[in-house]
Amino acid sequence: MTAHLIDGNALSQQLRQNVAERARALKNRGITPGLAVVLVGDNPASQVYVRNKVKACQDAGLHSVLEKYEANLSEADLLARVDALNKDPSIHGILVQLPLPDHMDAQKVIEAISPRKDVDGFHIASAGALMTGMPGFWPCTPYGCMKMLESIGYNLRGKHAVVIGRSNIVGKPMALMLLQQHATVTICHSATPDLKTHTLQADVIVAAVGRRNILTADMVKPGAVVLDVGMNRNDEGKLCGDVDFAGVREVASHITPVPGGVGPMTITMLLVNTLEAAEAAAH
Ligand code: NAP
Repeated sequence: MTAHLIDGNALSQQLRQNVAERARALKNRGITPGLAVVLVGDNPASQVYVRNKVKACQDAGLHSVLEKYEANLSEADLLARVDALNKDPSIHGILVQLPLPDHMDAQKVIEAISPRKDVDGFHIASAGALMTGMPGFWPCTPYGCMKMLESIGYNLRGKHAVVIGRSNIVGKPMALMLLQQHATVTICHSATPDLKTHTLQADVIVAAVGRRNILTADMVKPGAVVLDVGMNRNDEGKLCGDVDFAGVREVASHITPVPGGVGPMTITMLLVNTLEAAEAAAH
């Protein structure tokens, strides 16, 4: 069996069209959804990410501002900027691109963002809302994974999902979202002995490690759905995921490619969160 590809670009296009339509409806009421992206320092990867986020906003008809600061910006000055953005009615979502320079406490900066504008979903209030099943912003990458499962009509009730990775931005929120949809969830991490014992039992596997070939065909139950969050470089320098795509696609029923899988969905869900922040502010 060759797995069906879950195409993150195609799904993103559909969802972004919906965002653009809803943004137009808001504009007709005099409100343009706005995202502020704050970048401190000159990390080359971060520069690419923020550029892509700003462009995606513009393409969907959202207002976006990119605030760039030198790496030696003080934490106090950054906190003051966040405070000003919290108070700015033209801004509905605030994203502070991570990582921040070492002299800053990233968590402190994230906590300074108003939970109503926390479109990255990293604020402790957003994490708590997800944990307790209350409304709040979901972190974009695992949220995008949930949309991918929804796009194939996958019913998680009674299914066993294995999440590899337990970071605050991907693995843990992913596990909570799967749990909320009634999956039985196992979280694996670097101290998990014999990863394969767990993955072989899984109906759904989400790989979020940052290591090539962490998941190979012999570790996957035939017919499982495999979502690959990882972003790595192969020997030729090309972008690849955590999953041995060529092998696993012969065993899985559905699989996400890298590139063109979870990556575009992450930015799409940022647009969705920003739009929904604006819709909530408009009520
Ligand atoms: P992270 O904070 O480095 O977390 C990686 C997780 O993998 C940790 O929980 C770690 O366990 C676990 N791990 C490491 N080695 C392992 C092993 N041998 N077996 C099982 N688990 C292992 O990374 P992250 O931020 O979650 O990101 C994960 C990957 O997704 C990266 O490649 C990142 O670039 C990518 N990513 C992609 C997107 C996207 O839009 N596509 C967005 C975000 C991240 P411990 O907790 O025990 O250390």
